[in-house]
Amino acid sequence: MQKIICDTLIDAGHVLPIAPENRAFKNHGLVLQGDRIAAIGPLPTLLENYAPKEHLSFPEGILIPGLINAHGHAAMTLLRGVGEDMLLEPWLRDRIWPMEKDLVSPEFVATGTELAITEMLGRGVTTFVDMYFFPEITADVARRAHMRCLLAFPIFEGVTNWARDVDDCFRLGFELHDTARGNPLIDVAFGPHAPYTVSRATLERVLMYSQELGLGVHIHLHETAAEVAAARAREGRSWIDVLDQIGLLNPQLQAVHMTQVTPAEVERFAETGAHVIHCPGSNMKLADGICPVNTLDAAGVNVAIGTDGGASNNGLDVLHDARLASLLAKTEARRADAGKASASLYKATLGGARAIGREDDLGSLEPGKLADVVVFTPASLAAWPLHDPFAALLHHGSAWNANAVWVGGRRTVADGKPLLIDTAALRGRIETQTRRIAALTARG
Ligand SMILES: [Zn+2]
Repeated sequence: MQKIICDTLIDAGHVLPIAPENRAFKNHGLVLQGDRIAAIGPLPTLLENYAPKEHLSFPEGILIPGLINAHGHAAMTLLRGVGEDMLLEPWLRDRIWPMEKDLVSPEFVATGTELAITEMLGRGVTTFVDMYFFPEITADVARRAHMRCLLAFPIFEGVTNWARDVDDCFRLGFELHDTARGNPLIDVAFGPHAPYTVSRATLERVLMYSQELGLGVHIHLHETAAEVAAARAREGRSWIDVLDQIGLLNPQLQAVHMTQVTPAEVERFAETGAHVIHCPGSNMKLADGICPVNTLDAAGVNVAIGTDGGASNNGLDVLHDARLASLLAKTEARRADAGKASASLYKATLGGARAIGREDDLGSLEPGKLADVVVFTPASLAAWPLHDPFAALLHHGSAWNANAVWVGGRRTVADGKPLLIDTAALRGRIETQTRRIAALTARG
């Protein structure tokens, strides 16, 4: 029988395709052709049927679909550690927003984003969702690093370093949408910052445009109890109810945080198909509260995992946040069988793909999907012994390195090193930005 010529065959000791869910296969492989996955199966069968131009073997590795970081502010990696041990509201008002006013520029965003991408690739992330100023710069950096992203361009009422006003946000966002159209790595969504920073009229515009263009809406929602109390005082209802009234609770909505939710609101999310982005690390660090993932799961609401920005996490290690999601789910339910490792890994892959409307292309190792693939290999003896690959990655991820990464069939990491990023040059640029930040913090 004639063998089929293909680009790459990758095999690994353990393969976790995510679909089917909660299954681990030993000594399986993956065939890549162009930017897609052509086949998955037992290694001997693949070798019988395919003649790969390149064959890579990771007998000690765990092969999974690329992780999806479903919420963050990539450039804020430069601000990690500048506002510690503060609640969300004073943290934003007294610390982050004033600093951003002084600091945020195209160069700040380019450097911070390149740092974030380097960090994320090193932890097996192949897609990130970003809400930050100068998203056109983020797009450029992602394109050069061959990283996949969904850019939720920020929408604020007031003046920012990026836009003069809310109309300018839309204008710049549409420009970004036009230029990104031809790039398979870059998707665009609306990023109204939060219901308390964006007017109702603006949210209505977001709904209208998002439906016209078929784009997602990414918004911080019910992050703290104080935010919800303020909504009740001002609007006589919660922000979720306000969005529901407008019509924004729909399958295009990506609601980030959701630490304060009533049973009726969970029900509305289930009925409308809106998605929840759970950011456990950021929520715990800012003392926001706990997103009720067990209740959302039971109601059938899709949940994805995000790290949030480097200033509130402080890392962009989605595996680590997926672990926190598991531990919090167990703690909240007082049930050890809640928050299973496989369920959290699903949220960090296919759950993320569903939240951003890309489940046909991303999030699992299935023929026809895009070849966004990661092989984790032991970082040290701490990875051994391996009895359960889900538990190994999720509960002891620091013992594993993202050794090899492909995004859309292109290799972006080899031997744990990014191939398309000049890390020495990046380091110099980080130092320049760090000096600017240090001068500001010294001034107080
Ligand atoms: Zn955020």
